[in-house]
Amino acid sequence: MDFFNKIGKKVSQTYDATAEKTSKIAKEAKLKMKINENKSDIKQLYKEIGKKVYEKHVREENIDIRKELEEECTKIDVLSSEIETCLKSILELKERKQCPKCHSEIDLDAAYCPRCGEKQPDVENKVTEDIIEDLENSEVKPENQTEKEIVEQKLDN
Ligand SMILES: [Zn+2]
Repeated sequence: MDFFNKIGKKVSQTYDATAEKTSKIAKEAKLKMKINENKSDIKQLYKEIGKKVYEKHVREENIDIRKELEEECTKIDVLSSEIETCLKSILELKERKQCPKCHSEIDLDAAYCPRCGEKQPDVENKVTEDIIEDLENSEVKPENQTEKEIVEQKLDN
């Protein structure tokens, strides 16, 4: 603990200036962690689907996706859409968004896409806040880890 108190004192002057940036980095880290968790959950579901299909094949039975794989498929749909939301939130943190037509990364406040000219839908700022709140309430606390890393980086410089 003593060690970290010392580090805290040493970086406190420069820390304030970068606090906002740090919190954005921490939020982005959380979102990325959520994306990775969902991706590995999806992988696991693919395995379960594969196993079910193979067992049917062995028994030379037909498989009814609607009936027998519905649970897995629904879970994958939910996880995928959460990933989409996280990716969108990461762009918002960087004050960027993606054009729905050409998928270019453009300024958050752009009313029209500078690349393809597509009119941009109104920005929903609440998405990020909601998802961050969810993550704050979850068990995963990557923020501490990230801050520790930032402190360590500062000491290296
Ligand atoms: Zn565009």
